[in-house]
Amino acid sequence: MTPLPKDRGYFEKLSVNSAMGLALLIPAKYEDLTLSSFPQLNELNVVEISVKSAQKMAKFLKVTALAWGTDVELVIFNPKNFHYLSFKAGSRLFVRALVQKNFGKLQLVQPKIVTEIGSILPIYKTPLASKTMRSLAKEYLKEESLIEEGLPLELAKKLITLHNPTPKQSYEKSLEGAMEALKFAEIYLFLKALNSKKQHFKASDILKGDEKEFVKNLPFKLTNDQTKAIADIKSDLSKPIAARRVIMGDVGSGKTVVIFAAVMMAYPKKAVLMAPTTILAVQIYSEAKRLLPSFVKVVLVESGEKNADLDAADFIIGTHVLLYRSLPKCDLVMIDEQHRFGTAQRDAIHKMVSEGKSHPHFLQFSATPIPRTMSLIHSSLVNYSFIKQTPFKKDIETYIVDKKGFGRMLGRVEEEIKEGRQAAVIYPLVEESEALSYQSIDEGRGFWEKRYSGVFVTHGKDKDKERILEEFAKNGSILLATTVVEVGISLPKLSTIVIVGAERLGLATLHQLRGRVSRVGLKGYCYLYTNQPNSARLNEFAKTLSGFDIAELDLKYRQSGDVLSGVLQHGAQFKWFSLSEDTKILREVLAHIG
Ligand code: ADP
Ligand code: MG
Repeated sequence: MTPLPKDRGYFEKLSVNSAMGLALLIPAKYEDLTLSSFPQLNELNVVEISVKSAQKMAKFLKVTALAWGTDVELVIFNPKNFHYLSFKAGSRLFVRALVQKNFGKLQLVQPKIVTEIGSILPIYKTPLASKTMRSLAKEYLKEESLIEEGLPLELAKKLITLHNPTPKQSYEKSLEGAMEALKFAEIYLFLKALNSKKQHFKASDILKGDEKEFVKNLPFKLTNDQTKAIADIKSDLSKPIAARRVIMGDVGSGKTVVIFAAVMMAYPKKAVLMAPTTILAVQIYSEAKRLLPSFVKVVLVESGEKNADLDAADFIIGTHVLLYRSLPKCDLVMIDEQHRFGTAQRDAIHKMVSEGKSHPHFLQFSATPIPRTMSLIHSSLVNYSFIKQTPFKKDIETYIVDKKGFGRMLGRVEEEIKEGRQAAVIYPLVEESEALSYQSIDEGRGFWEKRYSGVFVTHGKDKDKERILEEFAKNGSILLATTVVEVGISLPKLSTIVIVGAERLGLATLHQLRGRVSRVGLKGYCYLYTNQPNSARLNEFAKTLSGFDIAELDLKYRQSGDVLSGVLQHGAQFKWFSLSEDTKILREVLAHIG
């Protein structure tokens, strides 16, 4: 659709450039201008009047007239000049007014002169006047244009009706009838805009290294999902277009070996991996030394030490300190736990190792599954691989407890540490706070330290947290912490986690925290300590261990953009389309766009 020159300014004001976009600016309400054949008390009526007389009072204009064949009185507060001109003895006109009975006489309060009698007038709340909107709707909301832009005929009809109501059509009914069309049009336009941003870059190199030997020599057999992810990556890297793929798999699903397989495909070209914490980088480094063939030169870049020979390296591992080094050109860039980095950091590492116009292949690994609809929406920009199976069956029992359950929970903690396993207690805060009805670490630590040995304490702002976590992993019994343990470090002996004030945390965070236990098949226990034990959200969370299910739950219960932040950067705030309910419509739209 191209607006006529005279209307171009209007479309600019509305920030709309299609018939479908215009159709989405729906009326805020309808004004019913069908004539009332008899007075309906205490309602808005449309009626023809013939004025008998008009009298200016102190605060209003009083008009007597004939309507419905009887005498009525019109009361106009704050009368303007045109009121005096219109409501003159002898004039006949149509008005719309609230009709009341006053001392037995019909009174029309604050009448509005109307002209389009018999119709239902859509009233808009846009930067343009309703009258202008109505004429634009007449001119541009045509079946042909909407179909041409991609809307199925049935839906086009519904939207047109919404803007052009027939007599006696209620606003609510029209809106309900058009709901599917509104959802369709909204997500359709969004995806179109997203698609237009899609860019293909030439890959800096086609990578055809061999990962088969590596896979064959692993001390375990890959899960099907791991094999599938590796095959996806293999197909990406052998193309002349720079790959953009997100490999999404729950904590413990075995993403690290997939990273290594990709390193093998890149070899003898260089690969770089950025991880969110030093502990994690070190863990991946030692895994790499253990599992990768010795001819692959693996280098860990640590803060402080500047001289690691990166030019000779095949696989460079580091935290964000990588961003402050000069890195050699790499043809494969990977980010582990990508949701822990900001967009700027992710872009930076990618740029640093690029040369000229071509781009390295880019793989991101994430342990925070996103809802199905979101990955579908994003599939136009990046490709996804999902690792849903975990090599070790997760066996975690989740309990929701309040004060009454504290003793039972303590019994469990005691039993586990007696068996040489470990427990973590996650507090909402470090210091005491009036605003919170839960203990902080400072308030709680005395309790634990008095009863048990091997109590370790750390929190997000603690400069020593990495060293403390490492020591706890070796010698500790109980770890008191804030959500810092969320980062994907491995604590193989950790069997129990207590989350204090669980209802305050998002489901994604709870899932990450719970994922700390039972990492290598150990039986695990998760206690959600809360003073809202009836929370439906927590109860549903307790019933599933699948990150993918939890992403859907998160969407269902989400008030603000918890899961969305970082994943959907275009701030997709939909007015009609629902990310949790409209998967079917989304699939139709995707099929339609092709
Ligand atoms: P993630 O990064 O996805 O959270 P990891 O890569 O750290 O998970 O793997 C968790 C543990 O599972 C590691 O000890 C790893 O060696 C092991 N592992 C990975 N894949 C398999 C497999 N297919 N069979 C058995 N163990 C595996
Ligand atoms: Mg990992």
